[in-house]
Amino acid sequence: MPATAPLAFFLILTGAAIGSFLAAWADRLPRGESIVGPRSRCRSCGVQIGARDMVPVVSWLWLGGTCRGCGAAIPKRVFYAEVGGMALAVLAVWVAQSPLHMGLGALWLWLLMGLVLCDLAAFRLPDGLTGPLFLTGMLLAWEDPSRELWGVLLGAAVGAGAFLALRIGYRMLRGREGLGLGDVKLMAGIGAGLGLTALPMVTLVAAVLAMGVAGAMALRRGNRPEGDLAIAFGAYLAGAAGLVWLWPLI
Ligand SMILES: [Zn+2]
Repeated sequence: MPATAPLAFFLILTGAAIGSFLAAWADRLPRGESIVGPRSRCRSCGVQIGARDMVPVVSWLWLGGTCRGCGAAIPKRVFYAEVGGMALAVLAVWVAQSPLHMGLGALWLWLLMGLVLCDLAAFRLPDGLTGPLFLTGMLLAWEDPSRELWGVLLGAAVGAGAFLALRIGYRMLRGREGLGLGDVKLMAGIGAGLGLTALPMVTLVAAVLAMGVAGAMALRRGNRPEGDLAIAFGAYLAGAAGLVWLWPLI
């Protein structure tokens, strides 16, 4: 058994709980509720969810995805987020070069998943996720002997700067907000974690993903003219940053 096996096991189990927490965060954001507030309640009957029903993955399977009290369906995305948190930990274990790399990598991927969920659910990239993402990116760079501090800071500055320029340009041209400040903070973290040279690839992958999804949605909607389609671009940037980080695996 390799020395890292206990850590890998811990990360994969923790991943389910983290996924559950991130799904709850994204769920509460549009309602303006705090993630550190009271324990989750059933959205249908209002009953507080008991400790035995809060075991990630297991509770959902055990209760068949329904509330114990009223039988109302619990959104499938909660279950997917829990399994997703575990799957990301497995991927981090897979690419890791050292125990520290493993832990930081899992954290990096979980934070990105949280940002994807929050942006899709509420068009928001909370500071509570972009801040830790930046710190984790700095630590990932520090842990990698092939990277130098100036390159890390340059990556963060160029990532944030490019999106800040885009934000200002869009506002001048269209007279309204297109990109949020959250996208700028997100790009600082991605630039720190992946480096300057990865930024064009991250942006390209994000644009391709976003266009693919927007195209599929437009096809499904038909030709009805319906104003601008709002795209949670931060979600695609975060997803692309995860894919680029996992590149050695692909
Ligand atoms: Zn209920």
